[in-house]
Amino acid sequence: MRKFTLPVIFLAIFEAVAVTLWLTKDNIFYLFNFSYIGVSVSLGIFLYLKNYKHARRIVQLLVGLYMLVYLGIICNENMQLEGFWYYLFTGVFEAATIHYAVAKIFGPLIFGRGWCGYACWTAMVLDFLPYKTPKKSRKKLGFIRYITFAASLVFVAALFLAKVGNIERIMFWAFIVGNVLYYAVGIALAFIFKDNRAFCKYICPITVFLKPMSYFSLFRIKCDRQKCIDCGKCKRVCPMDVDVTDNSRKRKNGTECILCMECVKNCPKNAL
Ligand code: SF4
Ligand code: SF4
Ligand code: SF4
Repeated sequence: MRKFTLPVIFLAIFEAVAVTLWLTKDNIFYLFNFSYIGVSVSLGIFLYLKNYKHARRIVQLLVGLYMLVYLGIICNENMQLEGFWYYLFTGVFEAATIHYAVAKIFGPLIFGRGWCGYACWTAMVLDFLPYKTPKKSRKKLGFIRYITFAASLVFVAALFLAKVGNIERIMFWAFIVGNVLYYAVGIALAFIFKDNRAFCKYICPITVFLKPMSYFSLFRIKCDRQKCIDCGKCKRVCPMDVDVTDNSRKRKNGTECILCMECVKNCPKNAL
């Protein structure tokens, strides 16, 4: 029964969001959208509890491909940061604004950076690269994320201030070009720094939302200090350099945790 409890709880949460948005926005798309994501996440949790080692990657592919290919390319919804600014400036609480509110701004108060571990279509590709755990120490380059964040805001604001016509079409192409750029930079950095997640650590503008909100996250990996033998394996397998044996919220790189569960799976004492 335990194997079904958690997947059912998560499915119920997503269904509650799906039905609420369907009824309040009078748009059945939201029922389909959040039900699909809920089923994918629940399936991933179920497979994880069954000890299937590719459980996280399955969710990442199911949700990431759906967002990139179906929502982004087929439905022309710019779900990147530029799309969020676009809908925000037009005053519309639709697609990208809802997506950001649920997955990247308020959701992280509950599930931290689960988005980064299980749904992001950029990381979906980066996680195929060979450096699953960083082979080099972390660099002090995190400031770059604020530059990319500001650049995204200025780009969309400039389109509005200049009263450029057909912004919707520009947003579609911004989504295509933005993704190509993200993949190119992300793959290059992974090889330069020997770290699949270098892009997430230094460049990704979305972390400007994700990091402060996930600081307060309800779901966190905690360490049972009674069981821990300080072998350090959890830190060696962590893709995000989190000091997971420290239970305080101020632990080193604590807001970087993507809940991938690699530390939990590898702890020889079941201390996490
Ligand atoms: S940090 Fe950015 S690129 Fe990396 S997984 Fe999170 S949202 Fe995706
Ligand atoms: S892997 Fe487990 S036992 Fe080893 S340091 Fe981490 S929490 Fe402690
Ligand atoms: S290995 Fe553990 S601490 Fe590191 S990102 Fe994954 S879940 Fe978080």
